[in-house]
Amino acid sequence: MVHFVGAGPGAKDLLTIRGKELIEKADLIIYAGSLVNPELLDFAKKECEIFDSSKLTLQEVMDIIRAAEKESKTTVRLHTGDPSIYGAIREQMDILEKENIAFDTTPGVSSFCGAAASLNMEYTLPGITQSVIITRIDGRTKVPESESVEALASHGATLVFFLSAKESSRLSERLLKSGLSEDTPCAVVYRATWPDEKKFICDLKDLSGNMESFGIDRQALIIVGKAVAQSGYELSRLYALDFSTGYRKGTVVNEKG
Ligand code: SAH
Repeated sequence: MVHFVGAGPGAKDLLTIRGKELIEKADLIIYAGSLVNPELLDFAKKECEIFDSSKLTLQEVMDIIRAAEKESKTTVRLHTGDPSIYGAIREQMDILEKENIAFDTTPGVSSFCGAAASLNMEYTLPGITQSVIITRIDGRTKVPESESVEALASHGATLVFFLSAKESSRLSERLLKSGLSEDTPCAVVYRATWPDEKKFICDLKDLSGNMESFGIDRQALIIVGKAVAQSGYELSRLYALDFSTGYRKGTVVNEKG
């Protein structure tokens, strides 16, 4: 059996209880050494075999899993954040399915949630935006034309750029060209929830320069959009005095209040 497990964004105690229990039971752990906190491996049993997938090809990962399956061992495939986001899990699952190897998935706290927590930020502020777009700038991996930086920026939603820190200069140029104003608020969080986390908020025009002065060119999220300012929003309807829900009856408010 193979368990895909989300390791969370970094902090050891942001692993789920289910994830921890699976690590404790694993005979074998294959973890993404580039981004998964190695302290999570402290939960593994002494005899558990550990492999760092950042040094392996897909083929090599699958060979390790196959060998473990032959011995009826339990494998944990530990992915950073939540496995569903840029986790390259489908290609592994397709091979497992073909070879009749059972697997399941345990979610994790994605880094975009870790970053929002570090900033005490709400991505979806009423009156500003009700959408968060998770995306990346194109690079070695292509992004469909309909999801270009320009196309997505046109929505005015909060944009969260993964895998784009190295390209911050090209990214900000494209965001500006797409019509976002120079003072659009942006946040950068490097290694969110790790002890060496760094973060800052600035105007779009200063994004790339600030990233350079902070020495951030990897393991960071770039968050762009009006919601980053965390001001000028409307109060939520859910908690409004006159709003009834299945759990609470609203009070009728007349014109005089
Ligand atoms: N599945 C992961 C994302 C993997 S892609 C998740 O859900 O978070 C790798 C990219 O994620 C990095 O290039 C960076 O943009 C982002 N990332 C991962 N961990 C991060 C962290 N702790 N802080 C900031 N960005 C992080």
